[in-house]
Amino acid sequence: MKGRRVPIRGIVPLVLCASAAARMPLAGKMAFANQAMFSSCCSRKGRATSRASCSSSSVLYCSSSSAAAADENLDAAVKAAVGALPSRPRVAVVGGGFAGLAAAYHLAAFGSDVTVFDPHEAGTGSGASTVAAGLLHPLTPRGKLIWKGEEGFEAAKHLIQTVNDKLVHDAAVAAGDDAAPANGPRGCLTTDSVYRPLMDEKQVDLFTKAAEDLPQWVESLTREEIMEAVPGSTPECLGGVRIRGALAVDAPTYLKGLWSACRALVNAADVDRNANGDTSGGDNGASSSPSRKEGATWVRQSVEDVHALAASGEFNAVVACVGAGVRALAGVKDIVSLRLVRGQTLLYDNVGAARAAEPGGEGAAEKGGGSSSSSSSSSGSGGSDRLLQSAVLCGQYVVPTTVDETGGGNGGKILLGSTQEPFMPGQKVDRPPDMAKALRQLRPKVARFFPALEGVTPIGCTAGVRVMQERSSYGRIPVAGRLPFSKRGWVIAALGARGLIHHAYLGKLVAACALLDSDDHLPPQVVAPLEDLGKDATGDL
Ligand SMILES: Cc1cc2nc3c(=O)[nH]c(=O)nc-3n(C[C@H](O)[C@H](O)[C@H](O)COP(=O)(O)OP(=O)(O)OC[C@H]3O[C@@H](n4cnc5c(N)ncnc54)[C@H](O)[C@@H]3O)c2cc1C
Repeated sequence: MKGRRVPIRGIVPLVLCASAAARMPLAGKMAFANQAMFSSCCSRKGRATSRASCSSSSVLYCSSSSAAAADENLDAAVKAAVGALPSRPRVAVVGGGFAGLAAAYHLAAFGSDVTVFDPHEAGTGSGASTVAAGLLHPLTPRGKLIWKGEEGFEAAKHLIQTVNDKLVHDAAVAAGDDAAPANGPRGCLTTDSVYRPLMDEKQVDLFTKAAEDLPQWVESLTREEIMEAVPGSTPECLGGVRIRGALAVDAPTYLKGLWSACRALVNAADVDRNANGDTSGGDNGASSSPSRKEGATWVRQSVEDVHALAASGEFNAVVACVGAGVRALAGVKDIVSLRLVRGQTLLYDNVGAARAAEPGGEGAAEKGGGSSSSSSSSSGSGGSDRLLQSAVLCGQYVVPTTVDETGGGNGGKILLGSTQEPFMPGQKVDRPPDMAKALRQLRPKVARFFPALEGVTPIGCTAGVRVMQERSSYGRIPVAGRLPFSKRGWVIAALGARGLIHHAYLGKLVAACALLDSDDHLPPQVVAPLEDLGKDATGDL
């Protein structure tokens, strides 16, 4: 069957660069420009830059100026409130995943000292964030916008950019360079090319509409174009789309970088304190003593009761972001009815998979068979001999991860995920992965849209647990706000299967609310489940 182009109509005038990008040759669209990928048509504060300054891989999202003004007002209000305090506020964050570290970062940015409690090593955590594929875009599988998708995307993109810049800078400094060399380390970004093949008429209909309604996010491609963009994908598709502006991060690298960026924010305060003899934070802020609450500190401890921590009087506020730990944490468990869904991911060696996909398999390639994906190279060092350069979604996903060894994440692998296994009562959150089960469930599904991995042996398997609310008219949305029956306790929970899209948005808002002692700035939809429970709150903590 001939590939079809999903028509694009009615490009909104606000998106200055959409038509220019649509006219670009495919190779240009695929180009991975690490620094340039974030250069948006609009600056962070929504001011339009000149059309000529939009790079080829620009993110085509423009935040509205009213949202930017509200953002600035909130920043000013929180900073004024913090500035009026006799000393820097101290806030505890329980849990060091995407949500906890985003909250910690914004607390630090607002001028607070932060203590993160998590039993695992500083900047690593142990929850769903560590095994996430790291995909960020604002669309549902049906091509609609996720609730607060554009705000969430903008906030996440900004935070990821900050972290990426810091990682690149730190690596350059460690290597003795003043600036990051052109072919240097990439930080936490793994790809800015995210594609979705359309496998049947229903998907074509949904994404034809998406391309009409959301041209700033959805670019239609013919079957030939998507096969050229993603070598190894299936000729069985009817066409495809590229999700504009979408990107993926290497999750472990991002978590480390986020903690490092958080620490950098409070370094100036730390320098003052260290000059006074307080050096208990160590190199990465790790501390075995919960008594140090200045600067940015990571305490390797599990918290058993959020209310007890809030009532201890040691912190101005406590923010609980414990992911699936929500089932066991007193003060947070039972807040709302949450569903747990386990997800397993298979790991492949990206270079080894390219060899294995050669005619005759890996052995033949090693004897000089070359690379099946050499024509697809777009990402500089380490890219040309990899099977997969771009992320591909189609119910399941295949995502390439970091290739440079400085990243510290899953270097040079392909993530194939993920299973969706309902959680049975009594099951342990941290039970080990079951690769045989993951293979049984994932292989037939991925064979449909990315057959190049068929027959390739995975090198590992990871497992994590997503936490989500029941579906509402807004979809599955997170819970965030003040804990019922608590004055100082706050929570961010139920980030679901797409935690990155809301982590920075809610992390910032909850940080602001905790410091302002008011949840007025949170969207009512995320607060509502907590308000229902807290009608009889005594406010005694
Ligand atoms: C297989 C898989 C793939 C995914 N892929 C994506 C993706 O591509 N894009 C995307 O946006 N989302 C993805 N997600 C969803 C995303 O991972 C989650 O929404 C997100 O990680 C949730 O973040 P969190 O900070 O709320 O929780 P977590 O990441 O689970 O972090 C919770 C932290 O709290 C700590 N903790 C728990 N209890 C306690 C306690 N009592 N005291 C102290 N610390 C505690 C844990 O050690 C952990 O570090 C994926 C999820 C899975 C399972």
